[in-house]
Amino acid sequence: MKSSHNFFNENQYYITPSQIIEFLYCKRFIYFMKCLGIRQYEEKRYKVQKGRNIHDKKEKENRDYLRKKLGVIKKDIDVSLVSESYKIKGKVDEVLTLSDGTMAPLDYKFAKYQDKIYHTYLMQIVMYGVMIEEIYNQPVNKGYIVYCRNGQDVKEVEITTQLKKKVKDLIDEFLQVTQGYFPKATKYKARCIDCCYKNICIK
Ligand code: SF4
Repeated sequence: MKSSHNFFNENQYYITPSQIIEFLYCKRFIYFMKCLGIRQYEEKRYKVQKGRNIHDKKEKENRDYLRKKLGVIKKDIDVSLVSESYKIKGKVDEVLTLSDGTMAPLDYKFAKYQDKIYHTYLMQIVMYGVMIEEIYNQPVNKGYIVYCRNGQDVKEVEITTQLKKKVKDLIDEFLQVTQGYFPKATKYKARCIDCCYKNICIK
């Protein structure tokens, strides 16, 4: 593996998985933040941070649990990744090398699995997958999400060509918004109730 450090281009703007999650929640967040320079309340950031600390602790407790179960022959922990072709960067909990010669991202969620994998989680794991492919130069066609709210619930996700294309389209749309394109409001009106942009957001 080449270090992700070597891949960084200082003049390039990279999108992170958490920005894409915000974008999926409401595309206008990004417009207000990036184009008008209006920041969100720090309170929200604090919650994210707190969740992250719990998650880090859990992740360390469970380091060796999955090795046998998934046919893992090697794993790298807390890996900083980047993709020049997708213009994204991020840090993944684990990069797995599997016995069939492919590689896979693994991400811990301090949450309980509820019948389906959320679209946001799916897009995030695919982003890690395409970055691993680029950095390690190995095929990635699956990823794992570990729900660790109640023990260990491991879900396998197929990282298909269609999903990679979906991520690419999402990133292109994100970039258009940062360049001034005014996106549609979220169709989930309940999200507007507590939104810090509701007074300036005309729907
Ligand atoms: S008010 Fe609603 S549509 Fe506007 S930015 Fe907030 S969540 Fe999005």
